[in-house]
Amino acid sequence: MIVAKFGGSGVTSTNLNRIKKIVLNNPDIKHVVVSAVGKQNNAEKKVTDMLIEYSRSYDKKILRKIVEAYLAIKEKYDLKTDIEKIINKSLSNSKNYAYLVSRGEYFSALMVSELLDFTFVDTKNLVKFKADGRLDMENSSALIAKTLSKIQHSVLTGFYGSDPFGRITLFSRGGSDITGALVSDAVDAVIYENWTDVNGFLTANPQKVLNPKTIECMSYGQLAKLNRIGADVLHPMTVLPLVKKSIPLNIRNIFNPTHSGTLITRVANKNGLLAATSFEAVYSVFDKIIPIKNFENLKFYNAETITRTLSEKPIQKIKSVFETPAEYIQVVYYGKYNTDEIIEKLGKIFFLSKGDNTLSLITERGNSTVQTVYDYFSKI
Ligand code: ASP
Repeated sequence: MIVAKFGGSGVTSTNLNRIKKIVLNNPDIKHVVVSAVGKQNNAEKKVTDMLIEYSRSYDKKILRKIVEAYLAIKEKYDLKTDIEKIINKSLSNSKNYAYLVSRGEYFSALMVSELLDFTFVDTKNLVKFKADGRLDMENSSALIAKTLSKIQHSVLTGFYGSDPFGRITLFSRGGSDITGALVSDAVDAVIYENWTDVNGFLTANPQKVLNPKTIECMSYGQLAKLNRIGADVLHPMTVLPLVKKSIPLNIRNIFNPTHSGTLITRVANKNGLLAATSFEAVYSVFDKIIPIKNFENLKFYNAETITRTLSEKPIQKIKSVFETPAEYIQVVYYGKYNTDEIIEKLGKIFFLSKGDNTLSLITERGNSTVQTVYDYFSKI
């Protein structure tokens, strides 16, 4: 049995036919978890973002936009659910933030369940949070297992559950990934397919590096490691429910469904370069010239932190002189390499630290800095 989770980019009027095809072509997919409608095009916002705005303003124009996103689905797929009435009613009758923001997943699951002719399942009373706000994994797994044992095919709402008092509780953003993992654990799935809009996990950000590759496989631990260095295809908590039963997680692309994506299991991938990340940073030397004790050990921090931490005046003066735009690069690599060669290629390095198969360095920002580091590790 397969559990498939579809992110918001699939749950749009334009792309839902892809989900339909993927699910109906594979009889092993029994349970489907969906996100709220994602961006229809670059100009649009995700429905969850619209709901967050709506929960603050109760602006009728935003409500209309949300209705339109779901009406487009209803019309294109000729669905019967009176989604306009359901949306208007649920968004007008509550002022509760979590309830309002959770409705995107609720509306999506209603529409997708009709589209696939699968049973609609609300996770409100199945995904449980403890009084302190943490996920109650065991209880949730047991409740989901009990409910789904009586249902052959279902579409479940991602992203939310409820606390011990029955109040809707949200995961942090991107949390439908965790719902999918919980469902996979509960039904003993042979695989958890997480369908996104990229060919799995890439070895680098394609906006910074030319033609990065898909990481074909890695371990749960390696995924956590990549999350720590800022590579964030999935919610960082996604693997927790999967580890106990070693359920494989397969990241796939709805736009390229024959691509095998990234497979995450217990087995680590220790063949050279796993991935590289990079972030813009600011290197500052002013800790050396301003004798403030707390800052003695700081080698870099971003401009925002500096302005928040110290009084405005001296900083602005110093900032322009002593701050250098920098790039914070981290590489996960299995094998031997020579840091001297990297230093030679980059020229200016402010900070370099090696450990636990991860190299972290801060270098002066340049057009191809990340590419240089990436190329070095790809070619060893
Ligand atoms: N819709 C929520 C978000 O945009 C949750 C999710 O998609 O996983 O963060």
